Amino acid sequence: MKITMHRGAKTIGGTCIEIEHEGTRIIIDMGIPLMDSSGKEIDKNLLKNPTTDNGILPRVSGLYKEDIPTISAVLVSHHHQDHYGLINHVHPSIPIYASQGTKELIEIGNIFCGPKVNLSNIKIFEHWKEFYINSIIIKSYLMDHSGFDASAFLIGTEKNRNTIFYTGDFRAHGNKGNLFKKMIGNPFTNLKVLILEGTNFIDIVPEYPDEKSVKNAFIKLFKNQSGPSFICSSGSNIDRIVNLYKAIRTSRKILVIDLYSAFVLDRLKTVTTRIPQFNWRNIRVYFEGSHKHLLEKTLGKSSYEKFESRIIKIEDVALLGNRAVIKIPPNRIESVMRRVPNKTGMSTIVYSMWKGYLKNTTIYDKLCTKHGMDFKYIHTTGHAYREDLVMLANVQNEESIIIPVHTCHGDDYEKYFRKERVVKLEDSNNEYTVK
Ligand SMILES: [Zn+2]
Repeated sequence: MKITMHRGAKTIGGTCIEIEHEGTRIIIDMGIPLMDSSGKEIDKNLLKNPTTDNGILPRVSGLYKEDIPTISAVLVSHHHQDHYGLINHVHPSIPIYASQGTKELIEIGNIFCGPKVNLSNIKIFEHWKEFYINSIIIKSYLMDHSGFDASAFLIGTEKNRNTIFYTGDFRAHGNKGNLFKKMIGNPFTNLKVLILEGTNFIDIVPEYPDEKSVKNAFIKLFKNQSGPSFICSSGSNIDRIVNLYKAIRTSRKILVIDLYSAFVLDRLKTVTTRIPQFNWRNIRVYFEGSHKHLLEKTLGKSSYEKFESRIIKIEDVALLGNRAVIKIPPNRIESVMRRVPNKTGMSTIVYSMWKGYLKNTTIYDKLCTKHGMDFKYIHTTGHAYREDLVMLANVQNEESIIIPVHTCHGDDYEKYFRKERVVKLEDSNNEYTVK
């Protein structure tokens, strides 16, 4: 079995790994890069027309629309753009494999954001069940990550099922942290290669170390709020919405969510019944921006009519006083605040996403100063801490090789593992043949 790192050895985002066995070639993840090989942020203009020449599409033969297809499958680990955002360029005859939740979220992305991803050749796999792509056997493991329904892949053959484990993006401190504990308690027998993400392979002292501490910070904040609070978070970060909901229940508040979030939660109920829904007690829905229009255009009126039974106008949230907690899509804070007629007594704006998205705080500072509100940053990372990464690697067969991926700190792996265990690949056709 041969591993080719097309991208991701030294960067975060844009991961693309090829696995080959007896002539069958599969690709794992096909994401949009966030940075170039020198660590500089990707020029957004290049993303408008991705090509292999401009470096956005990794150079993989037999993968793209204009090629004679020789790749047997593309596996998507989860719905974050830096893992699936380029699959639209894949030859339409090559099947895309994803979990049910990943597929749902990509479909939702097709409705609300561009560019549209062709899903006509998508195949759904179930977690913890093996499936075959010719002689390659794959088993998906559900992982704890800020991306919903994220997979890791155990890849092998009839002779050796535990050849390669690709972690995808994961963490141990989210709502599904038990999955990590289970994995630590059940190392793979005779694993040969661990392809280990290392976004956080650095020293960090987080203010909020886990999702639980985020939930507790929300509870503390809501209990003491003098008026409505506004929470800027991603509608597809389901762990965060679950904890927001738990926090409003404990502090006896009302969670007001935007139509997009209500739609996402409704679609994902086919995957899990354990996430809040628009018609649950203490939840209301407001219609904001173009969401209603986009739903009507793609799926018709019936796609949003049911949410109208729980509607509250954003103009009326002030009437809920200190009971209101309003979840806002990032970048809508100004337009939402503008629609609130009486801003006296407004409490706090919370930014609850990765700080990297918060280019500057000017908008928040302005709004807070203008309306006498507080600004708070309450968030925990979607990626495992170094101690958890090291733990996962160290419970495996001690002869197994570790390949760093999705990291800018690949050189540091050697400080934490025996040098002979670490194989640092370079991007672009740097291969490792599994012994
Ligand atoms: Zn991710």
